[in-house]
Amino acid sequence: MAIRPLMVAGSPVLKKKAAPVTSVTPEIRTLAADMIETLKAANGLGLAAPQVGESVRLIVLDRGYLAWDALPDEERKHTTCRYEPDVLVNPEIIAQEGIYEMEEGCLSVPGYRAPVQRAARVTYRWTTFDGEVRERSAEGLEAVAVQHEIDHLDGVLFIDRLSRVKRNIAVGKVKKFIASLDEEENETARRLYGKP
Ligand code: ZN
Repeated sequence: MAIRPLMVAGSPVLKKKAAPVTSVTPEIRTLAADMIETLKAANGLGLAAPQVGESVRLIVLDRGYLAWDALPDEERKHTTCRYEPDVLVNPEIIAQEGIYEMEEGCLSVPGYRAPVQRAARVTYRWTTFDGEVRERSAEGLEAVAVQHEIDHLDGVLFIDRLSRVKRNIAVGKVKKFIASLDEEENETARRLYGKP
């Protein structure tokens, strides 16, 4: 397993519609293992393959964090959050309803966060590495995360859902963040964003 460099806003691969995974090849397994390691190093909640430069429909979600986040406040204080990455092959939203707004961030838009409006509840379907088809209904953070990651597979960043003014601010923040890594001590961030 290896950490792969993260693509940031402006990278052409993030604008492309990703291709479906037609068979789980050794390359796809390696990609998933690397995405799991990259997501952990980046301390993120979800990661889509285009974010590491591979235009295929594969995402990784940290189910451990989602379960921890969904706990009642009091219980959360006494519960350790575990990293439980789940690999979703060819995920898709099959039903959605309502409107919900939550502040989002993205590993491909480092240094910027903003509220985004999405569906409040979704039902999503995906395939596991064993070829099993799974389906789940979700709301709250899980629903937001799934929509955010599937957007990546369609070449859409969360800032594409904002006004042009906000999008320009975001692009400026990303440039500033990447430039700051030249002087910064944070070795993990430098590795993640491909700074030697
Ligand atoms: Zn993202």
